Amino acid sequence: MSGVSFLTPDPCPSLCPLCLCGEAGFRSSGETMRVATLIDEVREAVGAARAEGLTVGLAPTMGALHEGHLSLIRQAVADTGFAVVSNYVNPTQFGPGEDFERYPRDLDADNGLCEAAGVALVYAPRTEDLYPPGHDTWVEVPALSQTLEGASRPGHFRGVATVVATLLNIVQPDIAYFGRKDAQQLAVIRRMVRDLCLPVRIVGMPTIREADGLALSSRNRYLSPDERTDALCLVHALRLAEDLVAAGAVEADSVVEGMCGLIEEVASAAIDYIAIVDPETFLARGRIEGATLVALAVRIGQTRLIDNTVVVPPEMTAPE
Ligand code: AMP
Repeated sequence: MSGVSFLTPDPCPSLCPLCLCGEAGFRSSGETMRVATLIDEVREAVGAARAEGLTVGLAPTMGALHEGHLSLIRQAVADTGFAVVSNYVNPTQFGPGEDFERYPRDLDADNGLCEAAGVALVYAPRTEDLYPPGHDTWVEVPALSQTLEGASRPGHFRGVATVVATLLNIVQPDIAYFGRKDAQQLAVIRRMVRDLCLPVRIVGMPTIREADGLALSSRNRYLSPDERTDALCLVHALRLAEDLVAAGAVEADSVVEGMCGLIEEVASAAIDYIAIVDPETFLARGRIEGATLVALAVRIGQTRLIDNTVVVPPEMTAPE
């Protein structure tokens, strides 16, 4: 049975006769979006696009798409002639007791959003293809994977690096897009691509936030209305860090202390970590000198959220 289905496009909202307006609902080539579940179908579709001279972009996701994902997807559509979105909740990056089973899944809604964004191909892989019986090959980036998220979620980055390497091998994109919201994941993937000489350019995209500052996340939908309010403590703590550094704070401990104090005022919040690190190596920095990543993970009730910002100390003013 074919794993490819075709979605009927919505009418062009501009009602232009040839549908070359680039508006929602039509691929620039006039083709409908394809949804593939089999590796061979992806290879065939990408091969045909390449034969037409198109460049290929990939935005890997776990679905439950929101505006954060869509910013990556729209960039892929804008930059490349053949934008691919992978949609797969990767079991190997979830630890025991994490939310793999209840992670939100809505492929139909996701496909509608991808189609409207101008995606050429959605790849919704089968687990037996990514992890065939006897699968025993893993990609690890140990030094970058041991701190912060890696310390809290052992094995997480091994699962991420392995599935991303596999997806890159299947789709073979020219460019792949990742969010800076998952800053450590982005660093792991950049290192993996560099060390394995994978022929792909990695683009890091800014974090998309709600109007009140909460970083968009598929996990936000777990939050009750009260928890949704409480979750603002993450971005408030990051803004405090930015303000402290702008005002001249250089000692990491004093910044962390201020952030902790703010979060501890919120009854439903439990700090997993607050870290001040080098943005490339993720090694702890005692002093904030040069661009520095401030990252945190906080549980709001049962929901674990992460966020980060890059702080840059003010330029030293020249003596008069
Ligand atoms: P996920 O589905 O959570 O695995 O995320 C897929 C991609 O979307 C990853 O590269 C994330 O970093 C990125 N992403 C998730 N949330 C956001 C956001 N709020 N802003 C920008 N990118 C995001």
